[in-house]
Amino acid sequence: MTMPDRPQPKPGIMDIAAYVPGRETAAGAAKVWKLSSNETPLGPSPAAVQAIEAASRHLEIYPDGAATKLREAIAEVHGLNPANILCSNGSDELLGLLAHTYLKPGDEGIYTEHGFLVYRIQILAAGATPVVAKEKDERADVDAILACVTERTRVIFLANPNNPTGTYLPVDEVRRLRASVPQHVLLVLDAAYAEYVRRNDYEAGIELVSSSENVVMTRTFSKIYGLAGLRIGWMYAPAHVINAVNRVRGPFNVNALAIEAGAAAVRDKVHLENAIAHNRTWCDWLTRELTELGLRVTPSVGNFVLIHFPHDSGKSAAEADTYLTARGYILRRVDAYGFPDALRMSVGAEEANRGVVAAITEFLKG
Ligand SMILES: *Cc1c(COP(=O)(O)O)cnc(C)c1O
Repeated sequence: MTMPDRPQPKPGIMDIAAYVPGRETAAGAAKVWKLSSNETPLGPSPAAVQAIEAASRHLEIYPDGAATKLREAIAEVHGLNPANILCSNGSDELLGLLAHTYLKPGDEGIYTEHGFLVYRIQILAAGATPVVAKEKDERADVDAILACVTERTRVIFLANPNNPTGTYLPVDEVRRLRASVPQHVLLVLDAAYAEYVRRNDYEAGIELVSSSENVVMTRTFSKIYGLAGLRIGWMYAPAHVINAVNRVRGPFNVNALAIEAGAAAVRDKVHLENAIAHNRTWCDWLTRELTELGLRVTPSVGNFVLIHFPHDSGKSAAEADTYLTARGYILRRVDAYGFPDALRMSVGAEEANRGVVAAITEFLKG
């Protein structure tokens, strides 16, 4: 048997299309508005910034490997048992830990047609096979997901609400999914945008996790809490899942600044309420204004909107992107998510929102 002349990644790795983060810069524009990564225009809680300043005086000390202070703060605010919470270096890390803990080569992991692309990456990185369930009207479709389940299925990733569509599955549908998947299949509910959702028929997953052995909910401090730069995620999961993932994660996967800042941020209800109110006002405003310009906007419960442009030459999403970028407005191309004719825009500060609508108005006239 001939051996390769250099180390080879295991099967699946070279099939991964590396994740492309939202762009940050626009050459030539005087002022740049980054609306490409669903970051909050309000920034983090001042209490979180203060906590970091205090913690930064003791960086020679290893963090608490169990992130106890952060887990207790999250548990208190959400009314959970801290033993069922596991924290991570961003929720992306958790998605990877779950894939590596529950998927092996030959297994299948399901995600949906326009679902968050980190799922595909982590399924492949675990050596397993990604299976894509069709969506219906840009929303996850429980029947299509169930039709993808085979005897090889081990994990289902569902973003609720989803990025980049901003659509969500009502709790009845998530319950129906959970009731119909085999009990050995892990259902991962990625609720990165849960705080933004103001719908009576939405539930982030706490109730489902509490009443099941095969459901976990992942959350993040990167979006509404404005701490994307610190990397803090967490999951609420049954004890046996916590036990397994605790063996796989790095011993100090959450850093000392993140533990302190996260604990302070989650307790700042005023900051959270301000962020929710700002988002509702401007998400609705953007949807209305852009619709009046004749563009279709997918109804969003998150902190971003998916704007569909005509396919016509001169008015396409790619051309709109170039036009907006030249004026300092950085939106997100979503070709990789199956939307070559759309741009995703994060809800920004008032000035940014008004600026984008004015620029798109000009673009469509030109
Ligand atoms: C932004 C986002 C996350 C959060 O990622 P972090 O690693 O916590 O910053 C997770 N899932 C979805 C669907 C997202 O859009």
